[in-house]
Amino acid sequence: MPTTDRILPGATLGVLGSGQLGRMFAMAATRLGYRVHVYAPEHDAPAADVCWRQTTGAFEDVAAVAEFAASVDVVTLEFENIAAIATETAAKHAPVRPSGEALYIVQDRLREKSFLQQAGVPVTPFAEATTPEQLAAAIEQLGLPAVLKTAAWGYDGKGQSLVRTAEEATAAHAELLGQPAILEGFIDFQCELSMLVARNPAGETATFGPVANDHANHILDVSTFPDPALAPAAADAAEIATTIACQLDAIGLLCVEFFWAKDGRLMVNEIAPRPHNSGHLTIDACRTSQFEQQVRAVCNLPLGSFDPIVGGAAMANLLGDLWQTGTPDWTAVLADPALRLHLYGKTDARVGRKMGHLTAIAEDAATARAAALAGRERLKQLKKS
Ligand code: AMP
Repeated sequence: MPTTDRILPGATLGVLGSGQLGRMFAMAATRLGYRVHVYAPEHDAPAADVCWRQTTGAFEDVAAVAEFAASVDVVTLEFENIAAIATETAAKHAPVRPSGEALYIVQDRLREKSFLQQAGVPVTPFAEATTPEQLAAAIEQLGLPAVLKTAAWGYDGKGQSLVRTAEEATAAHAELLGQPAILEGFIDFQCELSMLVARNPAGETATFGPVANDHANHILDVSTFPDPALAPAAADAAEIATTIACQLDAIGLLCVEFFWAKDGRLMVNEIAPRPHNSGHLTIDACRTSQFEQQVRAVCNLPLGSFDPIVGGAAMANLLGDLWQTGTPDWTAVLADPALRLHLYGKTDARVGRKMGHLTAIAEDAATARAAALAGRERLKQLKKS
C-alpha cells in the first residue's frame, strides 16, 4: 500500500467497543494528535472519559454504525465479539482494521482452530462436540481429561469446564443446551505465554514477547517480561504469531496465547485480534506500547520499536475483589517509584471485574514481579479510611 494512504495525526480514528482497551488506545492515539470516536452499546464506559466523541448504540443498529463509520478515517476495535453486521456496515464507509473476515474466524473456537491447523500452526488438539455423538467421538479421539468449551463468545474461561470422566463430560455437555461446542485435549503445560504482533497495511510486522502469564480462576493474574525460562520458546512463538497475522491478513495488533507443554511442545490456545491484558506492561516497559502499535498499524504508519527500555517488568491485575473490604488506599503504591498505577475509571467494582493494573519496572523481571505482587498485597491490606 502506498505511503500516501497513511492516516496522519489530525485524523479521526473510530473504535468499536469502549472498555479499558479502548481507553488505553484512545490515550495513545490522542498523544499522537489523533481524535478518537468510540462506538459502543454502553454509555459512560472506560473509554468515554478520554475520547473526543462517543456514540452510544447497538452493534446491530445499522444506521447508527453507518453514521459513526462515515465520521471517521479508519475503524478499529478493542473487543472481538462484535456482530458481523457492524463491521460489514462500517466497511462501506471506512477501512475496518482488522477486517470483519479476520474477526469472523476468531469469533468461534472451531473456526479459529481449524484455520490454525490449515495454516500449519501447532494448536491444542480439538474436535467438535456440539451433539452427544460428536462428544463421544471427541472423547474417543482425544482421551480424558479434556476441556469442554462453547465455540462462540468465550473469554476468561467462561463457558468451559474441565472434564475428567465420561459422566462429567455428559453432565457439562447437557448444561450447554446444544450450543456449538468443542472438546480440547487437556494440556499439561509448564506455563502459558503470549506474543504480540503488530501488522500494518504495508505488510510490516513487529513482535513483542514472549510474556509469561499466570492465571487465577481462568482470569489473567500476573504477566512477566522477560522470563529467562521462556527464551527457548521465543523464536518459535514470534514466528508463529507473525505467520498467524499474515495468514489472517490482519491489520492492527494481535495477541497469540500459547501453552508450552511440559514435553516442550508449543501450542496456540487462542488469538485475540486486539491489544491484550498481557501486553499492558508495554506501556511502561517499551519504546512503543501495544496501543501505540495498534494506532500506527491501523493508520499505515511505520511501526515503532517494541524494544524494552527497562531490565524487567511485571503487571498485576487489580480486580474488583480488591474493593470488597473497602476502596484501596492508592498512596500504598503511589509512594513506590518502581510501580505505575493504571485505573480504568470503572465505578462498579464487581468480583472478578478488571478495574485496573499495576506495572512494576526494575532491573530484572524477578525483581519487578516481586514489587508488583508486594504492591498489590499492600492494596489488599490498606483501605481508604
Ligand atoms: P481460554 O478461555 O481458552 O483462554 O481458557 C482459559 C484458561 O483455561 C487458559 O488460560 C488455561 O489456563 C485454561 N485452559 C483452557 N484450555 C485448556 C486446555 N486445553 N488444557 C489446559 N488448560 C486449559
